[in-house]
Amino acid sequence: MQHLLGINELDKAQIEQFLSRAQEIAAQLKKGDWDNERLKNKIILHLFFEHSTRTLTSFEIAAKRLGAQVVNWNPETSSLSKGENFIDTIETLTSMKPDAIVMRHADYGAPLTVASKAKCPVINGGDSWREHPTQALLDALTMIDHFGGLGGLNVTIIGDIAHSRVASSNMQLLTKMGANVRVIAPKVLMPESLPFDNIKKFHTLKDGLPNSDVVMTLRLQKERMDRALISSDEAYFNEFGLTLNILDKYAPKAVVMDPGPLVRNVQIADDIAEDPQRSLILKQVANGIPTRMAVLDMLVGA
Ligand code: ASP
Repeated sequence: MQHLLGINELDKAQIEQFLSRAQEIAAQLKKGDWDNERLKNKIILHLFFEHSTRTLTSFEIAAKRLGAQVVNWNPETSSLSKGENFIDTIETLTSMKPDAIVMRHADYGAPLTVASKAKCPVINGGDSWREHPTQALLDALTMIDHFGGLGGLNVTIIGDIAHSRVASSNMQLLTKMGANVRVIAPKVLMPESLPFDNIKKFHTLKDGLPNSDVVMTLRLQKERMDRALISSDEAYFNEFGLTLNILDKYAPKAVVMDPGPLVRNVQIADDIAEDPQRSLILKQVANGIPTRMAVLDMLVGA
C-alpha cells in the first residue's frame, strides 16, 4: 500500500493491519518505550487547504514522536494567493521531494490528484464530504479499546450524514469490520444512497437510538451546504441534539463519540460532552496520535 486516500480502498485485512499497529504503538507510548528514530531524516509536508485543529496537530505530534521533521505549508501565504493554480502548486511542492505528504482539501478527491503527481506516500487528512480515513481508524481504535472489538457493535451516527466525510469513512470502515451501522438525520441531510445496503436510515432519535452501543454526533457541515438546509441551530438541537436525558431514555448503555469540532448545544449538550462516564470524545483525540503514528510508520517507514 503506497498511499492512504480513503477507507473505500481498504479491505478488512488492511484495516486490521492499521489497527493492530496502532494498538501496539499505543501500548509502547503508555510504557514510554517506542522507536523515536523510526522516521529520522524524513521530511513530511503538511498541505492543509482547509482549517483543522485536531487532525493537523495530531499528525504533527505523531510525526515528531517518530523523529520526522514536519513542514507546515500555509495556503494563505503561498503563491496560490498570487493566482497560481492548484496543479502547478502541487508540481512545485512535489519537486522538492518530501518523503510524505499529509493533506486536506475542500475538493472531492483532491488527494487522488496529488497522489498521481507525487513520488511519495500521500495521506488524506480529509477531502470534501468524501473521506477522512484516519478519523475512522482512530474512532475504531477507541471503540476497540472500550468494547474489545467491532464485530456486532451497534453504532448510530446522528447528524449531517450528507456532507460529513467522517460519516462516510466511518460507515465504510465499521460495516467492513462487521459492526451494525445506523444513521439518523433530517430528510434534507440524509443522502439517497449509503455505501452499504445494510446501513439503516432513521429520521428521529426515538426510532434510531434504541439498543445503540455507541452514539456518534456530528457537526452541521454548513460550509458544504449550498443553501440553508436547517431553519436554525435551535430547531436542529430540539429535534436531533443529543442530551443526557434523551440518551438515558433511549440508549441508556451507550457511550458517546464526536470527531469535533464540538458545537455545543447544537449537535451535543454540555451535560454529555463533559460526562466522563459516557463521553469518549477526549479518548478519540488521544487515540489520534498512535493511529497516525501507525499510518506514518507503515507508509513512510517502509
Ligand atoms: N474535523 C472533522 C472533519 O474535518 C469533522 C468536522 O469538521 O465536522 O471532517
